[in-house]
Amino acid sequence: QDHVIGAPLQARCNSTASVQTDVTAADATGYRGHDMLAPFTAGWQTTDAKPLVIEKSEGSYVYDTNGKKYLDSLAGLWCTALGGSEQRLVDAATKQLNTLPFYHSFWNRTTKPSLELATELLETFTANKMSKAFFTNSGSEANDTQVKLVWYYNNALGRPKKKKFIARSKSYHGSTLIAASLSGLPALHQKFDLPAPFVLHTDCPHYWRYHLPGETEEDFSTRLATNLENLILKEGPETIAAFIAEPVMGAGGVIPPPTTYFEKIQAVVKKYDILFIADEVICAFGRLGTMFGCDKYNIKPDLVSIAKALSSAYMPIGAVLVNPEVSDVIYSQSNKLGSFSHGFTYSGHPVSCAVALETLKIYKERNIVERVQSISPRFQEGVKAFSDSPIIGEIRGTGLILGTEFTDNKSPTDPFPAEWGIGAYFGAQCEKHGMLVRVAGDNIMMSPPFIFTPQQVEELISIYGKALMATEERVK
Ligand code: PLP
Repeated sequence: QDHVIGAPLQARCNSTASVQTDVTAADATGYRGHDMLAPFTAGWQTTDAKPLVIEKSEGSYVYDTNGKKYLDSLAGLWCTALGGSEQRLVDAATKQLNTLPFYHSFWNRTTKPSLELATELLETFTANKMSKAFFTNSGSEANDTQVKLVWYYNNALGRPKKKKFIARSKSYHGSTLIAASLSGLPALHQKFDLPAPFVLHTDCPHYWRYHLPGETEEDFSTRLATNLENLILKEGPETIAAFIAEPVMGAGGVIPPPTTYFEKIQAVVKKYDILFIADEVICAFGRLGTMFGCDKYNIKPDLVSIAKALSSAYMPIGAVLVNPEVSDVIYSQSNKLGSFSHGFTYSGHPVSCAVALETLKIYKERNIVERVQSISPRFQEGVKAFSDSPIIGEIRGTGLILGTEFTDNKSPTDPFPAEWGIGAYFGAQCEKHGMLVRVAGDNIMMSPPFIFTPQQVEELISIYGKALMATEERVK
């Protein structure tokens, strides 16, 4: 219904021709897109269009197979925090590969890098006391692990009914069965028979889009906390095990929380003995200008999921941090059963752990949080200066993360017709001018590497401006 083209609107769109014709895409490379079933890619894209093949990276830039250079405004997928050519990470991986390329962590065997990384993570996370780290290969596996840990914990406590999870609309927690269920994005559920029935979704805390006329941010937060409480009461508090939230919602469109939101939500969750899981997969290690998103919003989680910047994405690794109360219960339960039967061949992979250890060392040595604090104001102000554009509904973000939402009449309820492909057109224009952004419908997202220089911030703002001008022209 939202995307029905109104005649006046259609008249305003200069070209409804395929966005693809305007893209400076990789060509004549000899690579065939259709041999690979690409993640989060429409079928037609993999069969009919050539993929953009990235071949090389250098600092905050990547190069395609034609040698075209792009400013990587999304840091890969919100993850290459140290950019694409950090020699120390390559050396750490090489050294570990030469010493011990693999050993597992099952049955009380493990490796030095995994033990050292666990200790380092527990010391680095200070928003609440954490006592154990469990390693995974990804953020999705971390969130799947969260569900299993929480169920195991409640079974140990003799609360077999306390199993439901509350997540939020528009959240993204990954794409495995459980993580996709937790996610609040319809595309992750449609035709996959998801979400699983134990997952409930509560309001998305997007003030601009969902506040009532005259409602302040604080009042909006109060209403959302009340809605959450009502949902818990309706379902029965004895059935609700955990609440999961990203400190700043990422893939759902970059949505920072409204004032007092987490304070109020945490009070409700605590009141009903519900565990709080912070999904820090995007926010951790400095992205928001604090070491963790929890530090920024005064979140005191029971469990934490991390991945991405943990290794600056040089090796796949994720982790779950567990507080002492939950880990004590899990220990006693597993002792009773003989083992804690959950884990992956590559849990605590020594090469991934060695790279992550070096990554954390670099963050500390280079005062990465202060670095983000020093470059983010210009990044935020420079892009937000385009907020007046008639085709932009809202630009939002904090630290080194920003989202732009294109809407008509500057209104959250006036989307452009999907067929116009406004977001895709803007993304294609950025690409043409040498910058890669994340496009999701008419949402654009950026989360540059932490090593971005002030010059690169200016370059990003300049390309953004050019792409915006071209997009405005198209809509005029
Ligand atoms: N959680 C959040 C907040 C994410 O943004 C992502 C990925 O973007 C995930 C979890 C899933 O991580 P992965 O893709 O490593 O499975």
